[in-house]
Amino acid sequence: MDINEQGNLKDQFGREIIYLRVSLTDRCNLRCVYCMPEEGVDYRHHEQIMRYEEIAEVIRVAADHGVRAVRLTGGEPLVRKDVPRLIEMIAGIPNIKDISMTTNAMLLEEMAAPLAAAGLNRVNISLDTLKPEKFNKITRFGNFEKVWRGILAAEKSGLAPIKLNTVVIRGINTDELVDLASLSLEHPWRIRFIELMPVNNQVPWGPGFPSPENAYYSIQEMKETLAPLKLEPVPTDIGFGPAREFRLEGGVGTAGFISPLGEHFCHECNRLRLTADGNIRPCLLSDIEVPVLPALRAGEPVLPYLRKALDLKPGRHELAENHLPHQRCMLEIGG
Ligand code: SAM
Ligand code: SF4
Repeated sequence: MDINEQGNLKDQFGREIIYLRVSLTDRCNLRCVYCMPEEGVDYRHHEQIMRYEEIAEVIRVAADHGVRAVRLTGGEPLVRKDVPRLIEMIAGIPNIKDISMTTNAMLLEEMAAPLAAAGLNRVNISLDTLKPEKFNKITRFGNFEKVWRGILAAEKSGLAPIKLNTVVIRGINTDELVDLASLSLEHPWRIRFIELMPVNNQVPWGPGFPSPENAYYSIQEMKETLAPLKLEPVPTDIGFGPAREFRLEGGVGTAGFISPLGEHFCHECNRLRLTADGNIRPCLLSDIEVPVLPALRAGEPVLPYLRKALDLKPGRHELAENHLPHQRCMLEIGG
């Protein structure tokens, strides 16, 4: 790691870190089949989870050294109490230009307005299907209508652009890719099709689902499925995300692809992650973590821990070589 002339965080491969992804909790009000087992995971105890003041302190130090964007995720970030209070704290940190959240939107209908008022700029919402019964089956507890009302509330509150994340599962929602992409015809939304990642989710998902190793559907296959829509490439906002975006003829939004397996975007990775239990994780897809919470609670400075995490940031993930992260599932890492 290196602190360049402006004092910003740069790793040994020259990648400048401008984006911090913060998991607020390892808890969730849903149990999506590809993310967590039906019975849940072993949650951390309350005192093992970072307090808002502690999260804000890490963000403040990161922002002093180049971080400009913060995404709140989880687990489900909105199951944590009083999230607008944290957002207000982050919005008050100099240099932070963008605050976003990834949510399943189950609680967004009532939360969108207070979140926006506190300073949240935009939301990414997970939506794998437009069919209520299927939605309930994939998420195990989810209610499609509630989520849809959450999306509309986010739009009404000005949380824009709205991005919809669809994890593509072979034989489960591959028949709906055209319908999901077609949402971008009428809505200024960005629909993003995500390749399924083999992150500690390799147990059987239950009746009616393919085995996890057969559920993967590649970006190439997605593009073939969407070929009738004649997608036109549009410039991407590289710097804030790995999606490749396209427009449907006459559409007001976009459809895009996120391909951690098929297309390497590691060379442009500009992010660090902070887990809910206070570990800095340099790469989603590697088990390397640097605990920062004990140091924070002991009153030590945070910067050396950010520096250490950067030193350990791998040049690229090794999923293709079958080196998978084993120790935590997506919701514990903060997907
Ligand atoms: N609960 C929130 C939500 O669902 O939007 C935020 C946390 S969730 C872990 C973040 C994102 O990770 C979601 O869009 C989810 O679909 C995605 N995700 C979870 N498990 C995944 C997997 N195995 N492969 C690809 N994406 C996954
Ligand atoms: Fe919960 Fe999000 Fe994981 Fe679904 S993807 S179980 S909503 S954390």
